[in-house]
Parts: sequence; C-alpha cells; structure tokens
Amino acid sequence: MRRRAVVLTGLVIAATLVPVTAAVAVDDVNTNKLRNAVTVNGILQHERVLQRISNDNGGTRASGTPGFEASADYVKDQLTGAGYVVSEQEFEFPFFQELAPATLDQVSPTETSYETATLEYSGSGEVTGALVATTNVVIPATEEPSSASGCAVGDFVPADSVEPQVALIQRGTCTFAEKVAAATEAGYDAAVMFNEGNPGRTELLTGVTIGEPVAIPVVGISYADGVALYEATQAGPVSVAVSTDVITETRTTRNIIADTPKGDPDKVIVVGAHLDSVLAGAGINDNGSGTSAILETAIQMSQKHVKPRQQVRFAFWGAEESGLLGSTHYVDNLTDAELSTIYANLNFDMLGSTNYVRFVYDGDGSADPDGLAGPPGSAQIESIFDQYFAGQGLATAPTAFDGRSDYGPFIAAGIPAGGLFSGAEGIKTEEEAAVFGGTAGEPYDACYHAACDDMSNLSTAALNELGDATAHAVMTLAKTKSGFFEDGSRMSLAPQISVDDFDYRGSQLLR
Ligand SMILES: [Zn+2]
Repeated sequence: MRRRAVVLTGLVIAATLVPVTAAVAVDDVNTNKLRNAVTVNGILQHERVLQRISNDNGGTRASGTPGFEASADYVKDQLTGAGYVVSEQEFEFPFFQELAPATLDQVSPTETSYETATLEYSGSGEVTGALVATTNVVIPATEEPSSASGCAVGDFVPADSVEPQVALIQRGTCTFAEKVAAATEAGYDAAVMFNEGNPGRTELLTGVTIGEPVAIPVVGISYADGVALYEATQAGPVSVAVSTDVITETRTTRNIIADTPKGDPDKVIVVGAHLDSVLAGAGINDNGSGTSAILETAIQMSQKHVKPRQQVRFAFWGAEESGLLGSTHYVDNLTDAELSTIYANLNFDMLGSTNYVRFVYDGDGSADPDGLAGPPGSAQIESIFDQYFAGQGLATAPTAFDGRSDYGPFIAAGIPAGGLFSGAEGIKTEEEAAVFGGTAGEPYDACYHAACDDMSNLSTAALNELGDATAHAVMTLAKTKSGFFEDGSRMSLAPQISVDDFDYRGSQLLR
C-alpha cells in the first residue's frame, strides 16, 4: 500500500491556481440573503448551549456519554422547530476510554522508565516479560520505502508459549492494526510500537489508533527509545513491564438527520458535521463550530424560505472521534437505491480555530503529491468555495483528503465531497502567517482535543468568514441548475484518491 505525505508543504493560493482539470463550474447562485442571515451571533447562540451541555455533563460531549445525548436532543429540537423532516439513526460502537496513563519500564538488565502512550483500542492490563524485536527492524531508519516491521506473522520470533513476551515493533508500511494482529497471532502478550525514525516520525508515538479493540496492551514510544531498547535486545535478554488501564465497551450513539421538506429527493446534498467531542473537553471548536454553522444555516434557510431545487440533508454525525463511525454507518447502510440519490457531501469540521487558515478540501488534487483528486464533482465543490472567497478578497489554501473527517466514507463510495477546515494541531507556517495572519510556529488550534476547547477557543473572524462560506456553498448546491457535469457527464481527468490512500481514520493515524 502506498503511503502519502502527511504534511503538505508549500502553500498554494487558490485565487492564483490553474486548475489541474478543466472542471465545469457550477452556475452562480445569489446567496446574499442567506449569508446575511447566518451571523456569528446566530452561530454562537448554539455554541453557548453546547458549552452549557458540556458543563452540566462532566465536561464532555463525547459519543456514549450524556453530554452527547443532550447535544443530539438540542439539535433535533432545533431542526424539528425549523420544519425539517428529522430522523435519527442509532448504532453501537466500541467506546474506548483511557483510565490511567500507560507505563513502560525496563526491569532488567537495567531499570529504566520510558515515556509512553496507550494506543487507541489497546487492551488493558499489565505484562512483565521478555522484550523481543521483530526480525525486520530498520535502524538507522531509511527514507521511504520504510520499515515493514511486524507487518507479517513471519516477522516475529515465535513467542514462548509459557512465559509472557512483549513484541518490539517499528512503525512503518502497514497499519498498526495489522502489526498488532500479527503480534497476537505470533503469540505475544503485549506490544511496544516505536516511531519509524524518518523525518517527522521520531517523536513519542501518540495520536494513533489500532482501529478496533484488541486483547493485548499496546503502547507507543519514540524512535530514540525504540533504538535504545532494540540495541539492548541485541546485546542480551531484556525484561520489560508494560501496563495500560483502559475500558472498551459497546455503547450506543446516534446520527441526527434532517431533510428539507422540499427539493429533488433524487439529488440529495448531504451537509455534515460531527456532533461529538472527545472525552477531554466540550469540543466547542471541534466540532461545536461546524455543528453550529450548519445548524444555523439550516434554520436560516427555513426562516428565509430558501426553496432548494435539490433536497438538502443536514447530518450531525455521532462517534466521529472514534474513527468516523457515524458517517461510515450512514453510508454503509444506504440501500443501492438510496446511494444513487446522494449527489454530494459537504463536510464542516472545525471552523473557528483561533490561529486559523481558510483551508478548502483539495477536490482537484492540485495539492496532492501524486495529483490524486476527489471523485468527479469534488473539483467543482472546491471551486465553489475558492471562487466565493476570492470574491470576498480572502485567500484560501487546499487541504488534503487524508481521512481525517467524515467525508471519508463518502469519497470511498465515489460521492463528490468538499468543505472547510480552519486547522487543528498542525503548526502554522511563515508563509501561511504572511497570507492569513496569526502566529507562525503555533498550532492552528492550541486547544485541539483538550479541555480548553471551550467558548474562549473560538475566532469570531473565522466563524464569520467560514460561516458565510458554509451558507454560500450549501445554498449554491441546493439551488444550482447546472449541477457538476455538462451533458455527457464530463469526468475529471485526474487520477482519483482511494480509501487506501488515507493515513488517518478521524483524528488518529492508521499507520
Ligand atoms: Zn473534528
């Protein structure tokens, strides 16, 4: 499987972009009335309710918690009151919570403690035993192609059937899920995953997921610590103690789905935002901002009597933070007939980052290292946003379809997608600060996935600009007469992205 560059370097200002493919532009729709109605104040009114819900429910709105349920009830009430046809879609998911930080100690020949982190969906428990490296560790790390440590069962020295053994595995090539499955099959009782060692892959391995619950404890460490432990194992027997303390249990969550009563039901625009936060906080930027922006757009479309030509389906996804589970459940459960009615997906995940960039999803593949584009129509969606912002004198930058949000399952089904993003934990570059303002060298959102993602963690300028662009794109796709394609359905000439190209599932790295 190919691995794509995670960080896109080089800023492309969309206004000066020459499109990679000659996309047929969607016809202009006058969206003034709706944009004037969708205000920062209107968005903030919903955000305040979400903050109060979090305050009243233990400081979180994560799926599987009462804070999520109250958020869902609020959104449902608002949409019902605005005249939408509202339904909900319940589903079960593996709820995962870390109860205490992981530990990793070398017990012998010398006692050493290592900085470590629990991988998402790790098993829980304590294992003390011999540390055994896979046979194909690559030290020093090479440029790509990288380590394939532990991708196959044959990479492991068969584990002792009596004494506990801990696998030492290097990141690289296949997914963490595949490495853990192979270690388990080879008979190991725990796994220590160290970072790969090539540029950008040296730090403590954190923010990664196994994707689904596993039985054995799995922790991450830095490349340097991995090298130290690896060299120790080559010198003689090494014993380590690994501990994780987590709960994984099946819980229920839901998607809230609201259809406009009018509009062509055979051409449905799915406008999505994830409703859940992480357990760590209220999620007022991630993703109270996208939630509130599409909720306010829905309410104002109703109040201003916007008559959609295409039906608009506002979707508030559950369990995005557990791996895009709500949007995946939705797409997976569409019948063939229903799937054929979905015309496009717009996704809004984080619109109020305090150190923001106006990122537009890279539908035409202009920023992809391999020129991979979204499904046909995605380039036109990108250009709706880019042209709108250009008309406002505002720069944009493309952001990769890398699997980090709920467009993922739509793209995987070949549905054109697009949307906005104001930036997460990534660091603003000098070039971006020169174009967009803000502070270079600082994260776009310093409170990403943290307790401080509260009402103070919002840029009202970002909400204003991206909120208006949200209303513009929703109304343009709702009312367009031309659609994406000329007669004969001119297709994109660019090679298309595949779900196998994604490095992420939600916020967590897959490989
Ligand atoms: Zn998010």
